[in-house]
Amino acid sequence: MSKSTLCCGLSMIAIMRSVYSDGGVLIHDVPLLCCPTCHRSHLAPELELDFIMLAHHAETDGVKVASLQEAIGSEKIEQVLHTYPEDERHRSGRRVLPEQIDSLLDMINLAKSLDDQKWQAELVEQLKRFTAWSHARQP
Ligand SMILES: [Zn+2]
Repeated sequence: MSKSTLCCGLSMIAIMRSVYSDGGVLIHDVPLLCCPTCHRSHLAPELELDFIMLAHHAETDGVKVASLQEAIGSEKIEQVLHTYPEDERHRSGRRVLPEQIDSLLDMINLAKSLDDQKWQAELVEQLKRFTAWSHARQP
């Protein structure tokens, strides 16, 4: 399963977090990709395999806490952080940027012209969320 690095019409941004593996190992220094708009997040795809291997080794050795940065080196981590930098949403504290709403309106027009009513309804729902969020501040 390949995970998208785009969400809500823009690139996701990488932030450092500590996360639990499926086997219950606490792994520090993990770059997660987050969407500042809808707050969805997942592991950076570049490091998915490294994460799984580290978690597997830790579980095998009975280790409860590990660091991804210690396991693979900070260079690889830095590279991922550099690939998905913070954007205007992060700096301004706004969940939705005007350009996201503009491109959504373009897509709604496209769905209309294709007479794709299901897609159009989905886009209108997203537009409702975007407009609600655009008035809210980041916590
Ligand atoms: Zn999103």
